[in-house]
Amino acid sequence: MPDPVRITFLGGLGEIGRNCAAFEQDGRILLLDCGLMFPDAEMLGIDLVLPDFTWLRENASRIEGCIVTHGHEDHVGGLSFLLRDLKFPIYGSALTLGLARSRIEEAGLLGRTELITVVDGERRRIGSFDCEFIAVTHSVPHGFATAFHTPQGVILHSGDFKLDLTPVDDRITDLARIGRIADEHGIRLLLSDSTNAEEPGHTPSERSVGHVLRNLFRDNEGKRIIAACFASHIHRIQQIAEAALATDRTVATLGRSMAKNVGLARQMGLLHIPDNRLVDIERLDDLDPAKVLVLSTGSQGEPMSALALMAAGENKWLKIGEGDVVILSSHAIPGNEHSVNKVIDGLCRLGADVVHSGLAAVHVTGHAMQGELKTLLSIARPEFFVPVHGEFRHLSHHARLAMEMGVPQRNVLLAEDGDVIEIGDGGIEFCDNVPAGYLYVDGIVGDVGHGVLRDRRVLAEEGVVVVVVTVDSQSGQLLTRPEFITRGWVHGPEAEGLIEEGRDRVQEEVEKAVADGAGTDFDTLKRHVRGAAGQFVSERTRRRPMIVPVVMEA
Ligand SMILES: [Zn+2]
Ligand SMILES: [Zn+2]
Repeated sequence: MPDPVRITFLGGLGEIGRNCAAFEQDGRILLLDCGLMFPDAEMLGIDLVLPDFTWLRENASRIEGCIVTHGHEDHVGGLSFLLRDLKFPIYGSALTLGLARSRIEEAGLLGRTELITVVDGERRRIGSFDCEFIAVTHSVPHGFATAFHTPQGVILHSGDFKLDLTPVDDRITDLARIGRIADEHGIRLLLSDSTNAEEPGHTPSERSVGHVLRNLFRDNEGKRIIAACFASHIHRIQQIAEAALATDRTVATLGRSMAKNVGLARQMGLLHIPDNRLVDIERLDDLDPAKVLVLSTGSQGEPMSALALMAAGENKWLKIGEGDVVILSSHAIPGNEHSVNKVIDGLCRLGADVVHSGLAAVHVTGHAMQGELKTLLSIARPEFFVPVHGEFRHLSHHARLAMEMGVPQRNVLLAEDGDVIEIGDGGIEFCDNVPAGYLYVDGIVGDVGHGVLRDRRVLAEEGVVVVVVTVDSQSGQLLTRPEFITRGWVHGPEAEGLIEEGRDRVQEEVEKAVADGAGTDFDTLKRHVRGAAGQFVSERTRRRPMIVPVVMEA
């Protein structure tokens, strides 16, 4: 009897982002994606969120490598952190590796990996794993679904995908190959993208955006046009550029990642803009505004991005004014709506005409909707099904779709981050749990921890009161009156009387504690200081700032 195959989910099942799964066979581990997640507004000061890598570090010697399905940050952005601790090769399409490479390079970790290019339809052994890379269409070119040919049958992971029958590069999701695998071997287990599992119908083709863009450019001849989209959305960039070229405009890029990705994609032959129609942003002022298109980053309202700076009137290269047209060829990722709204508002205030996906069909999603998810289910006809990539609501919706498509309920597993599932001769089951909490990154330091975040929240919402008492190191007697230092607690003038009262209250408390024999036990003194100050602050202000007692000996 063949050994069971295990899959450990380290991220992406319960949230949009930080996708990471580990396939385990013959004692070896092959990772599928290692992504990051962008923080929400509650995560104060956090730059990004990673999967918990504890389990991977503990099993470092068993890791064979990592497959990257496509170049989005939520699939490759964690590699530059994981590679600090581990060494392993990375497999992906040339573009995916090109996009993944820059963060790894910036972190100085290229020496810890080998980037190995695989192509559409390739079947390759990676250690004891037998993997096949199947073309899928998505909002970044050259994405893959991955078929693992295992002793327990074929496990198909869809990656992020949509079914676009007329994609810009004519590279459609290879349903024919998936159908052949289903016919020849049967698909034992399907893991599929749930991001749009709540959306009925089919996604429009990426080409439909091209029509809308061309019309927009024609309608706005004579005006300067600025268009923002994801810098990795090469097909969108191609269509925006084509609309510009067709209306006799020259293209300039704005923002570091836009310049870098346009360069990379042109070099790889995936993006076609003639040399003489591309101009450096530094030369923008030399050009007729009516004959230029500026391709900008910042479509998610990221605070320091080119577009956000434009909206604030602070962009070094470009000042927005009356008569400018700004196209946001994008849709706000959940959590970014507020930032995007602020940017749109700022641009309008400066006099620009802003076109966004709420006004015109200038964006389509890259993730399959219900009709497409069902199509994949009907072609793959999997024995078992596990929805992946999405918040719990998306996963549970997708599970329901699978049942509608005939997968028996007992064969559908709703797994979450940290779950380990095992597929063996008898079927599929949960078999273990590993740590899979959020790993917060602030600056370059990982593991900010929940305690730190809780403190930041208290500081942000309630402020801080530091109480300093100076006592004699021999007797514990107070040497001076207690000091109150506060930030974000009460407004200055009002605070003075309160603070005097508070000092008295803490003084009384310390004197009493010393008289009761607390003496030189400074931990006990500290507790008394915190207790008295906390009670006072709460009684008089009904607020709960962070109280920091400091006992100094002299
Ligand atoms: Zn993606
Ligand atoms: Zn994704």
